[in-house]
Amino acid sequence: MNPVLIIKKKRDGKRLNDSEIRYFINSYKTGKIPDYQFSAFLMVIYFQGLDREETENLMSAMKSSGRSLGLSDIKGPKVDKHSTGGVGDKVSLVLAPLVASCGVYVPMISGRALGHTGGTLDKLESIPGFRTDLSIKQCKRQLKKIGVVMMGQTKEIAPVDKKIYALRDVTATVDSIPLIAASIMSKKLAEDLDGLVLDVKFGSGAFMKEIERARQLARTMVQLGRQARVKVIARLSNMDNPLGRYIGNSLEVIEAIEALKGRGPDDLMELTFRLGADMLKLAGIKGGIRLLKQKIKSGKALKKFQEIISYQGGNTGVIDNYSLLPQTRYSFLVYAPKKGYIHHIDTFQLGMLLTELGGGRRKKEDRIDHACGFEVYKKIGDFVDRAEPLAKIMTNTKKRIAEIRTKLSHTFMIMEKPCRHRRLIQTVIT
Ligand code: URA
Repeated sequence: MNPVLIIKKKRDGKRLNDSEIRYFINSYKTGKIPDYQFSAFLMVIYFQGLDREETENLMSAMKSSGRSLGLSDIKGPKVDKHSTGGVGDKVSLVLAPLVASCGVYVPMISGRALGHTGGTLDKLESIPGFRTDLSIKQCKRQLKKIGVVMMGQTKEIAPVDKKIYALRDVTATVDSIPLIAASIMSKKLAEDLDGLVLDVKFGSGAFMKEIERARQLARTMVQLGRQARVKVIARLSNMDNPLGRYIGNSLEVIEAIEALKGRGPDDLMELTFRLGADMLKLAGIKGGIRLLKQKIKSGKALKKFQEIISYQGGNTGVIDNYSLLPQTRYSFLVYAPKKGYIHHIDTFQLGMLLTELGGGRRKKEDRIDHACGFEVYKKIGDFVDRAEPLAKIMTNTKKRIAEIRTKLSHTFMIMEKPCRHRRLIQTVIT
């Protein structure tokens, strides 16, 4: 097969067949197709889209680029959750140990920061020593012992997603329905799950800005799950505001630990409990939100997080001593230029500013600064006085700080009239 002709075919709006898609995916995995040609392939998909069958073929080729976890010998419900990507979204860090503490097996395979959104793996790796590159054998051993594992795509599981994911991040080809759906479902269906809960984001900080596109993405993934006989619940949730107060890897780990100690912010807890109750439902475990609250109150969920850290080589001391996490040298406040109500936050820009500070990647091989980030004091609908702080920047560099401060203050739109914000959780698609 000729890769140029396949790219040209899609460029000209024609359908690709299964063998053409498989050829492209397998050749990229083995290095026969270079990054520049695969980037062009991604870009034509971005502009021309894929129909339902092409998307299914793409997902299936990506999934079979590796093995499945093979969890049939684990007797008990196996349920996971995945988000389509947000800003300040540390739900997985709270949810995986929380739901596992209720008796559900959670084999969570996550990703790194992508585009303007944060990644669970990068957050976890801010814990000194924490390893996310586990083998299938290690993953299964841990799952059997403590009921939960939080790891990345590996050479064995969804290896090609790992490669494509990193390339999409630096070629502006992230916010495409077929590419997101295939990426998420190729990983999740390799986990051998009984059920999957999807948090499909929409709004200024999401890849899908409009709710209708988010709905379309949710339906595509639910359909892919159904074909694989995995029960899927998708929730549409609003990303016009960053989730919680903190944006940035180690800052979000602290906020997640606080949540597990029962001190999480309302929006983070509302979403965590809702998605957690969905996971319990798919697992056939009764108790819903009440049971989840109990597990936080009793300290069982926090203990489970400590076990995850310990099994994956991390320093469990971080639970009680946040100064063991990477720290920044400087902090700067950003003040409101006038008084009024917050009508809009450019949450996408907040995510991009984290990359400018060093907390995200511009090139695949970039190392990230796990410590830097923002604390956000105001959300949509809040009143702010002139010169009151809107946010705090935590950084290890003073380079271009004046510019970042200005850009940050411009992410908040302040107007005289009061305004209301949209509900956090909107609909469910099953
Ligand atoms: N999460 C993923 O795993 N893949 C995407 O493409 C977006 C979010």
